[in-house]
Amino acid sequence: MAGEGECPIIGIDLGTTYSCVGVWLHGRVEIIANDQGNRTMPSCVAFTHTERLIGDEAKCQVAMNPNNTVFDVKRLIGRRFSDVSVKDDIKNWPFKVIAGPGDKPMIVINYKGEDKQFAAEEISSMILTKIKEIAEAYLGSTVRNAVVSVPAYFNDSQRQATKDAGLIAGLNVIRLINEPSAAAIAYGLDKKATATGEKNVLIFDLGGGTFDVSLITTEEGIFEVKATAGDTHLGGEDFDNRMVNHIAKEFKKKKKKDISGDPRALRKLRTACERAKRNLSSTAKTTIDIDSLYKGIDFYTTITRADFEELNMDLFRKCIEPIEKCLRDAKMEKRDVHDVVLVGGSTRIPKVQQLLQDFFDGKELCKSINPDEAVAYGAAVQAAILSGEGNTQVQDVIILDVTPLSLGLETAGGVMTPVMSRNTIIPAMREQVFSTYSDNQPGVLVQVYEGERTRTRDNNLLGKFELSGIPPAPRGVPQITVCFDIDVNGILNVSAEDKSTGQKNKITVTNDKGRLSKEDIKKMVQEAQKYKSEDEGHKKVVRAKNALENYTYKIRNTVTDEKKKIDDAIDQTMLWLDDNQLAKVEEFDGKMKELENFCKRIFVNMYREVFLD
Ligand code: ADP
Ligand code: MG
Repeated sequence: MAGEGECPIIGIDLGTTYSCVGVWLHGRVEIIANDQGNRTMPSCVAFTHTERLIGDEAKCQVAMNPNNTVFDVKRLIGRRFSDVSVKDDIKNWPFKVIAGPGDKPMIVINYKGEDKQFAAEEISSMILTKIKEIAEAYLGSTVRNAVVSVPAYFNDSQRQATKDAGLIAGLNVIRLINEPSAAAIAYGLDKKATATGEKNVLIFDLGGGTFDVSLITTEEGIFEVKATAGDTHLGGEDFDNRMVNHIAKEFKKKKKKDISGDPRALRKLRTACERAKRNLSSTAKTTIDIDSLYKGIDFYTTITRADFEELNMDLFRKCIEPIEKCLRDAKMEKRDVHDVVLVGGSTRIPKVQQLLQDFFDGKELCKSINPDEAVAYGAAVQAAILSGEGNTQVQDVIILDVTPLSLGLETAGGVMTPVMSRNTIIPAMREQVFSTYSDNQPGVLVQVYEGERTRTRDNNLLGKFELSGIPPAPRGVPQITVCFDIDVNGILNVSAEDKSTGQKNKITVTNDKGRLSKEDIKKMVQEAQKYKSEDEGHKKVVRAKNALENYTYKIRNTVTDEKKKIDDAIDQTMLWLDDNQLAKVEEFDGKMKELENFCKRIFVNMYREVFLD
């Protein structure tokens, strides 16, 4: 146990587009910068003919290698290939996704000249591995445990898959935390000293690919998520796309060339547009300057903040609707909201802030928390609480999360019968008694769904199991108690028991169809280690190659420089000889010594440069 105490637990915001890591150190949260000095890292993994790249390095080369650069994997994790959302997403991705066994989406890439398939968990694990390394380099110790944040709307299967990604990366995910709750912790700590009584806080999280609104109530260090709403497909990338289309049109008009069929040119343009968009959050006008955008044609143009706002105005306005839904669900008016907190990189856009502020009748928005880091900050605080670290202020914080969707069973006629309603505070347990619908029915099929629609076919099937061995009885007589048990991580267990006979028959839904088996995970852990050692092997090769190259250049440069000096000395001595054919012995000896000393100095210098450095 002593050893475990020494190993800090890190807090990870595993974002759709960017990830961030924090740790509780010296009585406060430190957000850890990576080797590039960046405090957030693109959630991106790339494969090339020679190596695997993760984070900034992967994002940098995306334009050159679009088919083998994987991003947005959080949109796939824990989902099925046949999900409508997955089908829609695939259309927008330059990398290939196919249906694997059990309808599991598999990402197909070419690595070192070979086609390879990866599950979303594996790609996520690669990002987590990099985060783990960044933290270890900073802390100087091995990191084993982590708190990882997930969107509040993540279902059981998405949560399980996130934990599996941790396992594959060699990280024990001791707790999953809902992103808005994490942001609320960061916020609550900031404000605690001045807080008086209960406060209603609206968390407005507009990131790279997703938009989440959450209403949270805080009182004396206790957080309670009252309601969540949002749009799983709205964020910075959509704003980037609008700008990409706009600039592509401009290119077509000016250069009479269509780049829309060229993924490489589009990626290049997208990278430039994202940069321009960020600039436009702080300046009114910026330039887009791309060398060889398409078929060797350079492109230069300018774009103003007003242009950018016009391109995206409808999307910005869309950010307001979920706030209304969230307020409705929490049975609150906008005047009941004490604070509005900005989270996510896209909340830096001035127009978004303005629309939000207007909606709240001119209320000041809370921007004191760095929007890109708030979630990782909160996750790190949660980690400190769980490891028994942190000061008393931290220990006071208790977080209550809620179920994002109603959970229930299918009953006769395909009807959704909720057992646990939406926004139930977790952990929670709910029991409900069901019965048979025909005489002498020997068993029941328990089908677990999540969703708000009245028919199960419109909701999401989480899993199913049979409870058999029910003794013959008229319909409606057997008493089958179904228990929904949801733990602190939001992971759901459903069991059924035939109480009418006293005979206990309990089954638990543990493995969602798309879930990885223990064997799969074991295999993936081994593969992850293999990839890691390959990466290291490749790094060693690169290092050795660079060392040889550097040394060769150094010798060449040293020799060239010094040779020039010796040539000069030789030329001068020759000239002196020509002019002084009749000189005396001492004069020749003197000249000899001079040249000798000069050359000696040069050779010693060269020896030092080439051998002793
Ligand atoms: P995630 O959705 O992965 O949690 P973040 O909250 O880190 O992502 O937000 C990433 C998004 O924020 C990206 O689309 C990025 O372009 C955008 N972004 C970051 N900084 C700015 C800025 N200064 N202005 C506008 N957008 C920004
Ligand atoms: Mg985020």
